[in-house]
Amino acid sequence: MLRSLAYRMLPPQCVVCELHAAAPATSICAQCETDFFAPDAARCECCAIRLPVAQPGAQRMCGRCLTAQPLFDATTTLADYVSPVDGMVRAMKFTARLDLADLFGRLIAGRLSALPSASTQAIVVPVPLAFERVRQRGFNQSIHIARAFARASGRRLVIDQLLRIRHTPPQLSLALKERRRNVRGAFAVEGKLDGQNVFVVDDVMTTGSTLDEVARALKQAGAAHVHNLIVARTP
Ligand SMILES: [Zn+2]
Ligand SMILES: [Zn+2]
Repeated sequence: MLRSLAYRMLPPQCVVCELHAAAPATSICAQCETDFFAPDAARCECCAIRLPVAQPGAQRMCGRCLTAQPLFDATTTLADYVSPVDGMVRAMKFTARLDLADLFGRLIAGRLSALPSASTQAIVVPVPLAFERVRQRGFNQSIHIARAFARASGRRLVIDQLLRIRHTPPQLSLALKERRRNVRGAFAVEGKLDGQNVFVVDDVMTTGSTLDEVARALKQAGAAHVHNLIVARTP
């Protein structure tokens, strides 16, 4: 009892290194934030995959996006889905560490503030989870990340316009072609988005099939520009 009281009075430890105290109002220490969440210069502007060291003057897009451009226009990721960020994402989802969703949302806001092209007028839309998944987990982590991002960046959160209208089996076990087929028609937009710019928030981007399908629904409803904001990109 006494021990747990003393523990609670100590400043919270950094979730990554468990050595340093976390910076005020966050879950990570300043050193780990620098080490694991520093921006990478060379990523595809469209899908955020890491590029071989950028050739000067060349367009910053990967071969896949140049050949078949996705329906979204841009993607910003905080990091690759590798240790320790993958563990943080799993802790957020499977042990309900919503403080980490707050941390991710605030880090994304910081990253975007350094991006002059980012629209200040855009609305913030989290990727909806399948109803069954929400029932199992009790929450949708993307809503929590999006809310923290919207609050920290002064943008408007919209959670009732993008809907998941069809349950899809988990993407993990599927090959790329099957993933595309799996999510086809899974999303719909209620109402119109006439000419609006949209930030789409999700935790992990793998092949981009889900986000492509989200962008399709948003653009069919009239969205002008779709920019994905994700915590981690599978390399
Ligand atoms: Zn640390
Ligand atoms: Zn790309």
